[in-house]
Amino acid sequence: MSRRGLRVEGLRVQISQAGRLLVPVDDVGFAIGANECVALLGESGCGKSLTALALMRLLPEVAQVTAGRVDLGDTDLLGLPELAMRGVRGGRLAMIFQEPMTSLNPVMRVADQIGEALAAHRGLVGEAARAEVERLLQAVGLDAGRQWDYPFQLSGGQRQRALIAMMLAGEPEVLIADEPTTALDVLVQDQILKLLKDLQTRRGMSLLLITHDLDVAGDMADRVAVMYAGQIVEWASRASLYATPRHPYTRKLFAVLPRPERRGQRLDSLPGRVPAADAQHLGCRFADRCPEAFPRCHGEAPSLLQVAPDHAVRCHLFFPADIGNGASARVAAPISPPPPARVESMQPEPGEPGPPRGRAADALLEVRDLAVHFPIRRGLLRRVVGSIKAVDGVSLSIAPGETLALVGESGCGKTTLARAVLRLLEPTAGQVMLAGRDLAGLRGERLRRLRREMQIVFQDPFSSLNPRMKVGAILEEGMRSLLPELDAQARSERVAVRLEQVGLPADAAGRHPHEFSGGQRQRIAIARALTVEPRLLILDEPTSALDVSVQAQILNLLADIQARQGLAYLFITHNLSVVGYLAQRVAVMQGGRVVEEGRAETLLARPRSDYTRRLLAAAPGHLRA
Ligand code: SF4
Repeated sequence: MSRRGLRVEGLRVQISQAGRLLVPVDDVGFAIGANECVALLGESGCGKSLTALALMRLLPEVAQVTAGRVDLGDTDLLGLPELAMRGVRGGRLAMIFQEPMTSLNPVMRVADQIGEALAAHRGLVGEAARAEVERLLQAVGLDAGRQWDYPFQLSGGQRQRALIAMMLAGEPEVLIADEPTTALDVLVQDQILKLLKDLQTRRGMSLLLITHDLDVAGDMADRVAVMYAGQIVEWASRASLYATPRHPYTRKLFAVLPRPERRGQRLDSLPGRVPAADAQHLGCRFADRCPEAFPRCHGEAPSLLQVAPDHAVRCHLFFPADIGNGASARVAAPISPPPPARVESMQPEPGEPGPPRGRAADALLEVRDLAVHFPIRRGLLRRVVGSIKAVDGVSLSIAPGETLALVGESGCGKTTLARAVLRLLEPTAGQVMLAGRDLAGLRGERLRRLRREMQIVFQDPFSSLNPRMKVGAILEEGMRSLLPELDAQARSERVAVRLEQVGLPADAAGRHPHEFSGGQRQRIAIARALTVEPRLLILDEPTSALDVSVQAQILNLLADIQARQGLAYLFITHNLSVVGYLAQRVAVMQGGRVVEEGRAETLLARPRSDYTRRLLAAAPGHLRA
């Protein structure tokens, strides 16, 4: 009987670049059985995606597999001639990527793209292919009429479904999904993950899920491989790993997560970064960041050891267990991280009297019946035939020093509301009051003075900073236009203070954004917003593009700044764990309206609207009802 599933042993990927030798994947091994889901977990730069590309034999030209073995069922994939591999790729072994637009052909209709895969891998053409396209679209929950659309006519979730349908066309034995839902909101993410799980069980398919999200891995995987610096450092059943994470890196990944029960506490931190692929390692690759490192860690590389029947760890703190009695053995007792310090002024205690629902006491920002309608124009004369009500009668308020989270699916009007509050968009109706002053009708100097008091930090620190400008100039830019009374000396002093406040060195001012990591760039964006001393920060998904370790640093930084300066935050996010950890109040938006608003603990524990209940039910992990 032929074997099914995927087995990877001792995989090593090498890159030769400008005389340097990089080893981004080193001695990686795992197995996925039929009808099993394995999650490959870790921060960016740990080698997860390169491992997947190596399995697909789609590595970039500069990279090569120099050791190891990959078996798809009984087929040795690394030994196959390229022509034979083309028959396997997209057929028995398929892969879906994070951004479906990179995999879908933008100038081909969905039906033609799926049809191409059907003809190549199953020889289906004509009527049989047409019927199969419809069956596949139905399987992924896409209306049959969508087959005539081009990719740009589909939403993000629909494109991901179309791509999954295309990948299923070859009836794969193994499907690799590389961060398939990272760019999607919580409701669409839930639909896509359920779809993948359903397809895996119904078809007996093996699923390799690459993710940095512990909650997603916890919901989906049967077994989990944690990767760090190109190696697997922990390999366990989901039950064992989530009950008792053993490797210090895995334990840190859990400890840095924002959780409602950690409200009012500083998040644990994981300082430093994943070492570069060309770093020379004498000992453990995690040693520079490990709170439990001891002298042996710096001189001797640990091996992956079986410490329980379904659990292996690469760490000198453990030694092989007597698997017979199931006990995990450990050389030294774990040194627990210090208890998180309290941030005194960060959050009121549960039960502490708060402002009435829907209104913050002594509001800094008050939004009343705000509407932003976009006209729909048709015909030669571009007549207005209707309107899109992006924001439709929203009222909310935020007190000084308070955090109001704004949640809802993509397209519900959150960002449009933020832009209208900042007067980057002219509202159709309603009022925006800042510290009792109405922004409507303000122009010139008076608008400029009020703008200074509200600043925004965007989601993507890579596109929100001008790559040609030095950081010092980026930070000075806002001051030049909003605080013209400051001279060059005063501006540069303020730049130095803000850089220090966000934890960046003074010499950062003379460097360009590309010299910094994603987390450091988000610190620069926060420093830029702070230079004009605002009273309200609008944070538009400020951590969703960051690893969990960097997210924890940014959330701690925001809490520190708020505690010190009493800033108010309007925090736009789809991450309900962050909401539960950080916000005092939450407003839930759907279709341009606020459908529910209230104190965070109450709303998350006892949602009143069906829509909020749906959002909570779709959230991965422990928030799920
Ligand atoms: Fe930490 Fe040492 Fe274990 Fe590496 S081997 S994870 S440095 S304790």
